[in-house]
Amino acid sequence: MAWDYWRFLAILSLSGFVGLLFDQMVTFLFLASFFYALWLQRNWFQLLKWMQRPKKNQSPNAVGVIDDVCREVERVRLQNTSRKKKLGGYLKRFQSATSALPDGIVVLGDYGEVDWANDSAKILMGVRWPKDSNVRVNNLIRDPDFQQLLAGHDEFGRTVMVNSPVNPAIQLEIKIVKYMGSGRMLVARDMTQIVKLQKMRRDFVANVSHELRTPLTVLRGYLEMFNADDSTQEQWQAALPAMKQQAERMSEMLQELLSLSRLETGEKELQNSSTDIAKLLEDVIQDAKQLKQYHEHDIQLKLETEKWLLVDAEEIRSAISNLVFNAVKYTPAKCEIVIRWAIEQEKALIEVSDKGDGIAEYHLERLTERFYRVDSGRSQDVGGTGLGLAIVKHVLQRHDAELKISSELGKGTRFSCYFPKSKMVEKPNL
Ligand code: ADP
Repeated sequence: MAWDYWRFLAILSLSGFVGLLFDQMVTFLFLASFFYALWLQRNWFQLLKWMQRPKKNQSPNAVGVIDDVCREVERVRLQNTSRKKKLGGYLKRFQSATSALPDGIVVLGDYGEVDWANDSAKILMGVRWPKDSNVRVNNLIRDPDFQQLLAGHDEFGRTVMVNSPVNPAIQLEIKIVKYMGSGRMLVARDMTQIVKLQKMRRDFVANVSHELRTPLTVLRGYLEMFNADDSTQEQWQAALPAMKQQAERMSEMLQELLSLSRLETGEKELQNSSTDIAKLLEDVIQDAKQLKQYHEHDIQLKLETEKWLLVDAEEIRSAISNLVFNAVKYTPAKCEIVIRWAIEQEKALIEVSDKGDGIAEYHLERLTERFYRVDSGRSQDVGGTGLGLAIVKHVLQRHDAELKISSELGKGTRFSCYFPKSKMVEKPNL
């Protein structure tokens, strides 16, 4: 900066002095300033050209402020280049990392078109990027469940199982996740092995339960033939009833395991029909009163709607029986049990609540797992197998219904079964 002042001052002094010699100081001063201004203007112009096209044009060759500007521009330019390089490196690394992911990832545009896809998306779903860029993903994956998932903008987190459009033997679990505000990304995971293992587990349980039934039936038959009182040997008098009881328990368990397998494999098709839930609940209450654990329980039936349900009556009866029987089995004599049939938040609700001892909160999440029991000693006393609630969960799942469990120690437990609006039907005019 200072250099510019000195230079200008030097030019002015020199031209003033020469002007003085010729007695034309003002003219000389004016001419010197004019040419200096022209020179400066030329340099600024050259600077502008260089900034616009640094590769084609030369930088102005001047000392002072123009040179400072040149150097500053060069510094910022270099900084930007290295930053660009760095960001480019990050982007490349990120893209190759996502490309290498085993899950198929497709970034979707506003209209469900392909914006970007990784390598696995090509292998799993046949979505090629950049070839398929801007093609709507519902033209590439035509499964109706997937189309529904894609259309439902609010249901983020929901997953659907579809067969791969490339290879139907590949089972994909697809979900759409939200990112950066309104952005949508499709994530597909290969579940073939897991589905296979689940099927093997289900088949194994079903086969073992089936195979064990025959030998157990033979044993139970022979046990029935023995009568403890007739036996001469004293030790048999205690052993026989215990053996009979345990054989009964085993048979019950096998029966429940088989029902659970049938529900899980979907081997048995749903026999949906208009069902009078009020009548079904009355029947279940009558059955509950026959249980040996029923001791003057105060069972109340609250019917708050006249609607019927379009369900498999046999399965729903077995599920609700499990809930009501549990309420009788796990509560003390004379305990109040309320069974409600109502409509809540546009959903049909069958609710079984009791004022028993309740269940500690940390058990609730695992209650519907097979063989999970809160107090196995107590459960065995009442003849429980630990499979009842697992059956309830599966029956409800098959009916698109949801089970909610709430409980408070010392106050009681509530099992609420919510059925979707679509299952509700009007009571027929008979
Ligand atoms: P189980 O055949 O043992 O009854 P379930 O799956 O039906 O198996 O129930 C799991 C466990 O949940 C039971 O062992 C019991 O401890 C607990 N349970 C179920 N219903 C109730 C209830 N109404 N009150 C208290 N505990 C309950």
